Amino acid sequence: MARISAFENAQSQLEKALGFVKISDDAKKVLRKPNEIIEVSIPVRMDSGDLEVFTGFRVHYNDYRGPCKGGIRYHPDVSLDEVKALSLWMTFKCAVVNIPFGGSKGGVVVNPKELSNQELEKLSRAYIDSIYNFIGPDTDIPAPDVYTNEIIMGWMADEYNKINRRLTPAVITGKPLSMGGSQGREAATGRGGFFVLNEAARILKLHPEDTTVALQGFGNVGYNIARFLHGAGYKVVAVSDSKGGIYHTHGIDPDVTMDTKKKDGKMGECICSGSISACRKAEHVTCAKCNCGEIGQITNEELLELDVDILVPAALENQITKENADNIKAKLVVEMANGPTTGEADEVLNEKGIFVIPDILANAGGVTVSYFEWVQNRAGFYWSQDEVNEKLETIMQREFKNVHDIKEKEKVDMRTAAYILALGRISEAVAAKGTREYFMKSESRSS
Ligand code: NAD
Repeated sequence: MARISAFENAQSQLEKALGFVKISDDAKKVLRKPNEIIEVSIPVRMDSGDLEVFTGFRVHYNDYRGPCKGGIRYHPDVSLDEVKALSLWMTFKCAVVNIPFGGSKGGVVVNPKELSNQELEKLSRAYIDSIYNFIGPDTDIPAPDVYTNEIIMGWMADEYNKINRRLTPAVITGKPLSMGGSQGREAATGRGGFFVLNEAARILKLHPEDTTVALQGFGNVGYNIARFLHGAGYKVVAVSDSKGGIYHTHGIDPDVTMDTKKKDGKMGECICSGSISACRKAEHVTCAKCNCGEIGQITNEELLELDVDILVPAALENQITKENADNIKAKLVVEMANGPTTGEADEVLNEKGIFVIPDILANAGGVTVSYFEWVQNRAGFYWSQDEVNEKLETIMQREFKNVHDIKEKEKVDMRTAAYILALGRISEAVAAKGTREYFMKSESRSS
């Protein structure tokens, strides 16, 4: 199967939304291309004594609304195309939740599961050495993404501080609490997704106790949203990670599953090297709950097509494609991953009447609390977990309503509505620097 370009997918989403809004040609021109791209070669002395040179990227997509903001991904499939797509989505995500940031993204081509913790630390510090001039609290603020986490953010912030010769906590978010991290940041993406999922469930009249959920990806985002859903009474019947998944008709307890994954799956100190499929032999997942024995293995492909009420892709891009979109049975898809649905698949889901909460809204809780962390770092004044969660809930519910109102008014899908909302906000920032009309008038004044 030909691999779909993530950036082409992101661009086609943007072009579709541009067809529905009246914004200046200036804004359209600015938004079609990334501002700046950097590619770096990162030499690291490995434990074996060999020198490995890793490839890394950082893309600033747009900073009209504020400093660029975007995570750093470690994955063997990272490419410039993917990083560009993720940086475009970040630009629109920050505008959807109306936080004063532009969009960026970074990535390193590496399988972190194959590195020792020492190698991982060296690579993380060396990546910051390479991109030091490209980031900063007023220019571009990184955060965690796939296979990076708060320990890695801590090393990166520390490296930046060493080069800068002063403590600059606001340069990176998603740091450990003891280094200026925010309460609630680790679970924020999952929590934000849970808030908007509840809003959609209300519209679709789905009651938690009668609602089944299948969830692809069991990392930071997948595990946390699973916890919140389970706690609210939803039945999470299937979860998976890169190696496969488990299915249980009576519902899975995400904490038991995570404990099992950690115990059986050789969880590294800071990078998950285990797998949910280790739970296959964990009979106690079933027995402790209901003794029904209705637990089984499931592939990632099967999970997506399960007969459930809600499907939550929380792993990587391009999971729902034209090949499987017609087989999706869920009534609600909550895109916790970035770009999990291709453009062609999106059309199919819309035709089938499936309600999709798009990634740029569904997973915006993470960047929202990253913004809170940046604000707290700059103020030197820290908030309680309750304050963080309340502010997050207010923003997610408000912007869900804004997007849904546009959907109803313009008779478009939720993704297009989210882009329309974001485009309006970004184009105001473009226009604030002067419009064609303004400059042509001043030309005639001076003549
Ligand atoms: P993570 O590294 O914590 O977890 C990734 C999970 O996906 C792991 O369970 C891994 O096993 C699984 N996975 C990897 N390849 C897979 C495959 N082919 N099929 C099924 N599962 C697979 O990453 P994360 O931070 O949870 O990020 C997950 C998604 O959420 C990504 O798309 C990321 O860009 C997006 N996201 C993350 C944040 C955040 O705050 N961490 C914020 C917004 C969006």
